Amino acid sequence: MKNFIKTNISTDSLALLLVQAPVALSMLMGDEFVIQVANPQMLQLWGKQPEIIGSKLMDALPELEGQAFIDILNIVKATGNIYKGYKEKCYLVRNGHTEECYFDFIYAPIYSDDKSEIIGISVVATEVTDQVQTEKKLTETEYKFENLIRNSDYAVAIYKGEDFIIDLANDKMLKTWGKDDSIIGKRIEEGIPELVGQAFLGLLKQVYESGETYSAKEDRADLVVDGKLQTYYYNFSYQPLKNHNDEVYAIANVAVDVTEAVLTKQRLQENEAKYKNLADSLPIIIWTADKEGNIDYYNKKWYDYTGFEGIDSREAATHKILHPDDIERATQVWQRSKENKSAYEIEYQFKDGQTEDSYKWFLGRAVPIKDTNDEIIQWIGTCTDINEFKQFQQQKDNFLGIASHELKTPLTSLKLYSQYLEKNLRKQDDQKNADVAMKMDDQINKLTGLVNDLLDVTKIQNGKILLNKSNFNFDVLVTEIITEQQMSTSHRIYLEAENIGEIYGDRHRISQVMSNLISNAIKYSPDSDKIKITTKLTEEGCVLFSVKDYGIGIPEDKKDKVFEQYYRVSGSMEHTFPGLGLGLYISSEIIKRSGGRIFVNSIEGKGSDFCFEIPKKHKSN
Ligand code: ADP
Repeated sequence: MKNFIKTNISTDSLALLLVQAPVALSMLMGDEFVIQVANPQMLQLWGKQPEIIGSKLMDALPELEGQAFIDILNIVKATGNIYKGYKEKCYLVRNGHTEECYFDFIYAPIYSDDKSEIIGISVVATEVTDQVQTEKKLTETEYKFENLIRNSDYAVAIYKGEDFIIDLANDKMLKTWGKDDSIIGKRIEEGIPELVGQAFLGLLKQVYESGETYSAKEDRADLVVDGKLQTYYYNFSYQPLKNHNDEVYAIANVAVDVTEAVLTKQRLQENEAKYKNLADSLPIIIWTADKEGNIDYYNKKWYDYTGFEGIDSREAATHKILHPDDIERATQVWQRSKENKSAYEIEYQFKDGQTEDSYKWFLGRAVPIKDTNDEIIQWIGTCTDINEFKQFQQQKDNFLGIASHELKTPLTSLKLYSQYLEKNLRKQDDQKNADVAMKMDDQINKLTGLVNDLLDVTKIQNGKILLNKSNFNFDVLVTEIITEQQMSTSHRIYLEAENIGEIYGDRHRISQVMSNLISNAIKYSPDSDKIKITTKLTEEGCVLFSVKDYGIGIPEDKKDKVFEQYYRVSGSMEHTFPGLGLGLYISSEIIKRSGGRIFVNSIEGKGSDFCFEIPKKHKSN
């Protein structure tokens, strides 16, 4: 100032300098800081009018009361030390409102001419409110962003700069890496050295350079966790973070550990491969189908046998492979199983893929797999080649057919001879030998019965058992059969009969069934002495014939089996009760063909009640 004065600079020039200076300037003089000078910028900064010039600072800006400025001014005045304030907060009343403002300012002492005392303070100030607020907002955003990352459900990390410094990694990410937060601030290859040599660093570089996000699914990463290198799988992304110049300055890494899911999938695939191999190595055809029955899998044997490719629909496959005679039956069996949600078993012939027009017998089986609500989820089926077995069965049936037929003629002659012999011996009054001849005749009758059974079975199998129906008196037939059976047994046969009268059916075959049931009742009740026969008319107009014995009975699980071909009493009693296991099979076929049903009620050890029911008037004429 001295120099200015010395060089005689005009007060106007000084005033102009004050007015044009790009900063706010003021001079506060005396102990009360009277505003001696304040340029327009300072007035605007304070939000006050020029009238305040000449007033004490505290009068002009009473809002400074309680703020630090007056104290600082006093210190500067007292010490002579310049005070520089940066981004200091100040509450000012501007335009009638109290505002929070920020300033950079300098308080410097103004000395008296002789420099002996400090007579005032010069103030230079710049308002930085906007800058401070922007910085504040930025910090807040960063804080929020960091918070977001820390609390994220995903593992998140931020790698800064080209060196990929781990700037931030939430707990989940640290846990995923098996590291602690000491790796923050380190380069990735320093913090997670095992990643060197894996694809990730290259990918990060690529993202940094291209500015394009990279994401991957179920990617493998080998990480040292708990001191040992372990394999993990992640769904992850590398997303570039860009500044306002669109330059990448960091990469955000979001990762989800899907190791469990991937391992489960791998295990499932391994299991699937194992079971596929197992299924392929079996000598039977295996298939699976969805709940509707649409086939979705065949094992190798199917393709080997049929020569087919791919998977046809059930209908297409049925028509391509099944013998035309079996299609309808097979379709019905399948439909019934589907409706009843039950397993099925069927024998049918498959076209041989190797030789055109030749068929092989297969045993087809299928079981529905159900959920806890008893709903079908899947069908599993097998087809077993039983061709050889069927051929043996056929050979056996043929043999039995021929053998029984061949036996029939000599047996007939034998019977005639034995009867002739008995008659002659009786004439010669040789009773002893006549009795032997009579016993011989009995045995021949038994043998004839067995041969007839075998012949009947052959007839049934060839579909040649034909019923010779006529009207006949049922009650008479029952009495005849009982009389005949009573003659050859010590069991007492009781009859409880309703009057049935005439019925329409095959008299001979029905008598055969009655005899069979009664002779079985006698045979299988050796420790009892009575048999009870009941006949009655049912409400449905059927004739019911039942034979009740008090013998060995039949175990519950064998009740249906007794009507099967060759089913015989088993175990220790096998030899006690001779037989071929054909009588009930033949009887059931006869009753079925007569339009009726045959069944048994029995308690093991207590006795059995074999019954058949046939329509009284199957066909009237
Ligand atoms: P077979 O008597 O020649 O063995 P069947 O076909 O007549 O053949 O009978 C088949 C099987 O049924 C017999 O082996 C026996 O186990 C059983 N069975 C038949 N009738 C009776 C009965 N009244 N009581 C107990 N079991 C019987």
